[in-house]
Amino acid sequence: MGAGILLFPSVNPVTIQNRSTGLRPLIITSHTNETGHKAMALRWEVLTKGGSAVDAVERAANTIELDPEDTSVGYGGLPNENGVVQLDASFMDGKTYSAGAVACLERIKTPASVARLVMQHTDHVLLTGQGALDFAKAWGFREEDLLTEKARKIWLRWKEELSPNDDWGEPDHLKNIINKESYRNDFPDIEHHYGTTNILAIDTNGDIAGCTTTSGLSFKINGRVGDSPIIGAGLYVDNEVGAAGATGRGEDVIKSCAAYYMIMRMKEGRTPQQACEDALHMIVEKYSRINPGFFPSEKFVAISSRGEVGCASMKGEKEPQMSVRNEKGFSLYTGTIAYRGK
Ligand code: ASP
Repeated sequence: MGAGILLFPSVNPVTIQNRSTGLRPLIITSHTNETGHKAMALRWEVLTKGGSAVDAVERAANTIELDPEDTSVGYGGLPNENGVVQLDASFMDGKTYSAGAVACLERIKTPASVARLVMQHTDHVLLTGQGALDFAKAWGFREEDLLTEKARKIWLRWKEELSPNDDWGEPDHLKNIINKESYRNDFPDIEHHYGTTNILAIDTNGDIAGCTTTSGLSFKINGRVGDSPIIGAGLYVDNEVGAAGATGRGEDVIKSCAAYYMIMRMKEGRTPQQACEDALHMIVEKYSRINPGFFPSEKFVAISSRGEVGCASMKGEKEPQMSVRNEKGFSLYTGTIAYRGK
């Protein structure tokens, strides 16, 4: 049996429904695909060998960022409206109350690592655009093209189908006559506009760290920054309380300071599961005064300093899940839907 099979068995992971007992050390990610599983398996070892939560979180983030098949994070992420991949990431260390982030970072595959360096080697919290790139290069990061063929084709398809009133797409006299080019058939569902990963961990000392990393809203306006690199919105970590992270429509997460809100709820005694749900209800309550039918798409994850976990999404039919690794092994934790079917 090869090492890969030993590390990442293809058996279905245990699924835990809405309940969580506290276990430390612990590492979780909002990613539930094979790469999320792989990131948990590999970085669990960092924690069990006495490594820090900061190290485990960074390496898990890098595993996900470097997956070229993942169109929501790092290398292979979907580009902005101009076809340029712009990445956002944040890092927070609950032990030292330190945070670092990068926004609109181009041409660097692992923005989580750059965010960690901002956190540990500057007196700033957030670097953007060219400044973030200059900083990364100063630390020896190599500039690379982040746009994979897969992401480029999805972007082209989006561009061609964006509007009938521009000149992208087949000539008018051939519209609806010729067969679609294969790249259009290859990616029929372009509804994917969101996607991000949160990674939260507690090490054997009880220290907590977290990271949120993303290519952000796909086809966004050049320069748009989402919630992921905003401390208190896409991520917050406090050793005394726990950690929380957000994915989904970042504009709502920024306005509601959702990650900080979840931490405050847990500080008041709510479980991580309740805190995730509270934050979603809080957002809908704000909109209910002006647009009662508006339910933005978000998914929140949280852990407590005791090692409990929680996860909730705003709407849909299928309960959200997250990947959890603790001494009981790898499991998929199933959370709740705040507004089912919306
Ligand atoms: N929250 C991210 C953003 O708004 C996107 C996502 O999580 O899907 O950039």
